Amino acid sequence: MFAVSQEVSVMPNINMQAEKTPMPSQAPDVRNHNFLEVALGYTPEQAINEAKRCLQCKKPACVTGCPVGIPIPQFIHKVSEGDFAGAFEIISGANALPRISGRVCPQENQCEGKCVRGIKGEPVAIGRLERFVADWAAAKGIESLTAAPDNGHKAAIIGSGPAGLTCAGELARKGFNVTVFEAFHVPGGVLSYGIPEFRLPKTIVASQVEALKKIGVDFETDMVIGKVLTIPELFEMGYETVFIASGAGLPQFMKIPGEGLIGVYSANEYLTRINLMKAYDPHSHTPVLHGKKAAVVGGGNVAMDAARCAKRLGADVHIVYRRSEKELPARLEEVHHAKEEGIIFDLLTAPLAVKGDEQGKVAALTCQKMQLGEPDASGRRRPVPIPGSEYDLDVDEVIIAIGTKPNPMSITGTPNLERTKKGCVAANDETGATSIPGVFAGGDAATGAATVILAMGAGKKAAAAMAEYMLNKK
Ligand SMILES: Cc1cc2nc3c(=O)[nH]c(=O)nc-3n(C[C@H](O)[C@H](O)[C@H](O)COP(=O)(O)OP(=O)(O)OC[C@H]3O[C@@H](n4cnc5c(N)ncnc54)[C@H](O)[C@@H]3O)c2cc1C
Ligand code: SF4
Repeated sequence: MFAVSQEVSVMPNINMQAEKTPMPSQAPDVRNHNFLEVALGYTPEQAINEAKRCLQCKKPACVTGCPVGIPIPQFIHKVSEGDFAGAFEIISGANALPRISGRVCPQENQCEGKCVRGIKGEPVAIGRLERFVADWAAAKGIESLTAAPDNGHKAAIIGSGPAGLTCAGELARKGFNVTVFEAFHVPGGVLSYGIPEFRLPKTIVASQVEALKKIGVDFETDMVIGKVLTIPELFEMGYETVFIASGAGLPQFMKIPGEGLIGVYSANEYLTRINLMKAYDPHSHTPVLHGKKAAVVGGGNVAMDAARCAKRLGADVHIVYRRSEKELPARLEEVHHAKEEGIIFDLLTAPLAVKGDEQGKVAALTCQKMQLGEPDASGRRRPVPIPGSEYDLDVDEVIIAIGTKPNPMSITGTPNLERTKKGCVAANDETGATSIPGVFAGGDAATGAATVILAMGAGKKAAAAMAEYMLNKK
């Protein structure tokens, strides 16, 4: 029996079931042939059952793990009572994009990672409950955003990922005029071009963008800042503050022989073609290779997404990762889903070269087996090559998912803006303020590749600082 701590107010009706209420999902051998959403969402009965697992802690550890500070026990209590509208009101006060974060947040490292129910069993499924409540509200047509009267101040946002969208919502809600400049033809950032449809349906991202438009946010797409307009020009146009939320979309390559062969993709290009250009549709104008056997290099969420897309396009897929399973940086749930769908993990394996055929197309990936040595600067055990263990993995497609960094394009023409050694915009963690007054930055552009909820948190903090800057500017 679970020992109830003294910090817990004992609720009459608590469900002491040790495991989370299971999430209804498409079967693995069905879903690996389609792009429809894998997880289907709780029914009201399942949500109430799960909500009753919450102990309503007096000092809720879960909240300390949430970068946007959602009052978690309060919303869960409403769910347990069947008051879903009340639960939505609480969530939306803290989080403008709950349908998105409820689906893609790494809750196991955040709220759920701290939940006391996780000590002897599984934590409360906070993410699944957040998703349930937000989907329920969307189905009822309940809007969470309302605009205040126009206060005459103008802000520009570069990039429409979660950092830019959150900042836009927070400012528009306070009466500021907001224009979001987006390089792509569709807003949403990684939510639109990176995370696949089967994890985050694009209609959900589009509906969150529509909600922002309804409260007056203007979206200017196909606008590459640094090319079409510079940041100094935005100020000349009358914008009083600029928020740089241009993400970290510049792919890294391995610098091994053969990376220029036909059939080698960066994960960014591969996923963008599939998600944004719908390349899986045979009628798409921008097709993508439908490989028979693909190698995806890397072990993060991006690698899992690319591998699961290649599988859905008909390939046998190998993940090639140089450390062991324990070091895989991807979310556990994503690794689990990938394995269920038949992705093969070639662990402790590093690529040495891509081999091509006489037409310049990928024919094989030469790999070498590794063993783990002493920890390196990242604290993870260093992979050490095993001499003589080289072999060829026969593949016709190689997708490289070994990381990205910020693209400096958005800040071209802004010479006095300080950057970090890693090429990120140097910004204050609490306010997003940069070395130039009125210019703020946040999300992956300031931190390097991170998470949706951290980008949202940064957008929220920057919006508060930008509002103060505009209202107090002499
Ligand atoms: C494939 C993939 C899967 C991921 N899965 C998860 C996950 O499951 N959970 C999670 O929490 N995180 C995940 N992440 C990470 C997460 O998506 C990012 O941390 C987050 O999107 C960062 O948000 P952002 O707003 O800072 O930037 P982005 O989402 O990258 O948005 C930046 C936007 O700026 C635009 N832009 C860039 N340059 C310019 C310019 N010069 N002018 C105008 N616009 C410009 C870009 O086109 C883009 O739309 C994933 C990332 C990838 C790539
Ligand atoms: S979700 Fe977990 S940590 Fe948070 S209040 Fe409920 S039982 Fe406590």
